[in-house]
Amino acid sequence: MQLKFNVLVAFSVLTLVALIGIQGYLIYNTYELKKKTYTIDARNAIAKVYNSATVDSIMWLYRTDFLQNLQAFEKGNIKEQDLIVKLQQKTSEINPVFVQLFNEGLAKEKEKYDVKIKKVLTSVALTDSLGNTNQIYNAAKQDTIMLLGENFQNQDGLLINNSTWQDDQTPFKLNFQSSIFMNISDWDAIMLRELSGLLILSSLLFLFVVSLFYYSIRNLMKQKRVAKIKTDFINNITHELKTPLSTLSIATKTLTSEHTKGNTEMVDGAIQVIDRQNTRLQKLIDQVLQSSLGYQQIHLSKGTFNGSVFINELLDDYLLSINSSEIKVQRNIDSTGIALEADKFYLSTAIINLLNNAIKYGGTELTVSYGIDKTDSTHYISIKDNGIGISPKYQRFIFEKFYRVSEKDTHNYKGLGLGLYYTKQIIKAHGGSISVESEANKGSLFTIKIPII
Ligand code: ATP
Ligand code: MG
Repeated sequence: MQLKFNVLVAFSVLTLVALIGIQGYLIYNTYELKKKTYTIDARNAIAKVYNSATVDSIMWLYRTDFLQNLQAFEKGNIKEQDLIVKLQQKTSEINPVFVQLFNEGLAKEKEKYDVKIKKVLTSVALTDSLGNTNQIYNAAKQDTIMLLGENFQNQDGLLINNSTWQDDQTPFKLNFQSSIFMNISDWDAIMLRELSGLLILSSLLFLFVVSLFYYSIRNLMKQKRVAKIKTDFINNITHELKTPLSTLSIATKTLTSEHTKGNTEMVDGAIQVIDRQNTRLQKLIDQVLQSSLGYQQIHLSKGTFNGSVFINELLDDYLLSINSSEIKVQRNIDSTGIALEADKFYLSTAIINLLNNAIKYGGTELTVSYGIDKTDSTHYISIKDNGIGISPKYQRFIFEKFYRVSEKDTHNYKGLGLGLYYTKQIIKAHGGSISVESEANKGSLFTIKIPII
């Protein structure tokens, strides 16, 4: 049964994880698809601007300048490294116009996302008439040189075009390579905006499925516990009924036996046994009926009396009734004499239930305290024992009807699991509360609180 349940939970968790995985994958795909669409859009728009005649004429501004510098270099008027320096000077001179042109050309796209482009130099090689090639710049080995556009880190950009410009008008054959990168800086914000509907809906759906799952498992566990409690109760009550019933059956057999006829002593004895067992059965049934009541069905007839006197008298009577020298009770009772408004009969039943439990579950040294808790304006009555204690995992169930802790070492204690339930109902009917503090093998402390009226 437990195995089946565990398998069911494991499968449900796996299904849930698979569902999350699939949903995550779908969202990721949508993200990628959207990004692709944006990239294609931006790329097309950039190509349109880049290939326009105006931009082309700007390109020729620095190209012409570069060719002139090459001629000066050939004549020995400038040095090789000056070629790149002068190229940079020229491109930065024309860059503002280039940027402006781009921004104008991409105005429509810029409304939707912040797109930037930059053109960087990849390599410049000169080949002389003898076929010797001199690589005067190589981006792979040297610092990046930006020619045109707005700067951003290369790794943030997407390479959209590599272009080669070749020229053999100068004494050298020129091979001038450049690359264009595009960058959309607010990707994440755009995607979040675009996918927000989908993300919210998926999160809600996910939350809904998880709550449904949690609710079902909790319900299942509760039903399992209730089923177990019911079986335990039936076992306990059958056990409790067995002894008086078998004694009754022996007594009736005695009465009907030939041997007893005329023997008034035996007849009387048997009748007394029947009477005692009858009372025991009656008490058991009354206990089940009475202790099963909910707090709404408990009709209190309250009186006002001195709390300290009440508790002291109750303890005196209780100790007399158990008449045991093994049980020591320490009293910690406030004697200022504050009026307690409660139903004496019911409150006594509640306290006696706690005292009975304290002794039944191994307590030999009890401490009963009574006083006023000023922080929450209540009377408190607490019973501390040094018995077997209750491990924390069971504590929240012990006030439930028919619940009994079913650890191996608690099997020896007889009971129906009604005492604490009924005690709680009585305290609830008084508008109060009951709580427990305990640790396995370290004893328990039950505290009743009743409001000061
Ligand atoms: P009943 O009181 O109906 O005869 P019961 O004592 O088993 O039966 P409750 O008084 O409701 O039922 O207690 C519920 C469970 O809480 C008990 O079965 C026991 O395991 C645990 N319990 C209650 N009081 C104590 C205590 N003082 N020390 C240790 N365990 C306790
Ligand atoms: Mg009990």
